[in-house]
Amino acid sequence: MTYIGRFAPSPTGPLHIGSLMAAMGSYLEAHAHSGRWLLRMEDLDPPREMPGAADAILRDLETLGFQWDGPVLYQSRRRAAYEDALARLGAQVFPCACSRSEIADSAVTGIEGPVYPGTCRDGLAPGKPARALRVRVQPGELSFEDALQGPIHQDLAQDIGDFVVRRADGWHAYQLAVVVDDAMQGVTHVVRGSDLLLSTPRQLHLQALLGLSHPIYMHLPVAVNTAGEKLSKQTGARPLDLSQPASALWQGLDLLQQSPPQSLRHASIDDIWTWARQHWHPSSMSGLSSVEIA
Ligand code: GLU
Repeated sequence: MTYIGRFAPSPTGPLHIGSLMAAMGSYLEAHAHSGRWLLRMEDLDPPREMPGAADAILRDLETLGFQWDGPVLYQSRRRAAYEDALARLGAQVFPCACSRSEIADSAVTGIEGPVYPGTCRDGLAPGKPARALRVRVQPGELSFEDALQGPIHQDLAQDIGDFVVRRADGWHAYQLAVVVDDAMQGVTHVVRGSDLLLSTPRQLHLQALLGLSHPIYMHLPVAVNTAGEKLSKQTGARPLDLSQPASALWQGLDLLQQSPPQSLRHASIDDIWTWARQHWHPSSMSGLSSVEIA
């Protein structure tokens, strides 16, 4: 089996140290398996996107010496494939008329906010227009073994509820798009931040319903600020300083627990990548779900 990995940034802002960690981890893991490394732009959420960010991310990755295989896949151009998947899901998908506040009012709290109470599962109330599309979940434990975080168990019915696959604004949900594209691109191994660990059972569920194979998952520690918040544009992540690309790569390796020698801090990016390939040992991140950035 050829290893196929990928990096799938959302263009909500420029690359920062948190996204660089996911890029480096997935890249080094693909190299360690003599695999391919694909790039996918997850530009499916225009309200949250920043104009120009997708191009800026590609430029920054190039400056940092990343080389991806094949053309970049843009999710904004894949809407027909997501519609096709919805059609294949058939009766597993149902229209939902509930507003966010209606769900919040009537629901039990799960692991990501209110659990969908099933209001529209058996049809819409008369006169209520459909908003989002949801997929049905069944009670019962879903489990998988994460390569770093160990065994993960989740009961989708209890913890999440029937979840959105096409949003009220017409855009397809991340959970659906990621499953359709990982399958279409032949991705065998998903390496990404542990903020997505609890999304994985939803993706396993959709893969099973669509008859797709399950990739192997490795969830890296995510970078958090001193308040414990995941670094993002909203929590004040600074864009990478690429006047010294080697220093950014060095910090990425350091946060990925690879203990790069100080002497590499100002080395050439080629030397850093050579060292990183030779010394890559993801096991030093076992069980680590976050790392703090001062
Ligand atoms: N687009 C997601 C993000 O930037 C990553 C999705 C994934 O790797 O599955 O957080």
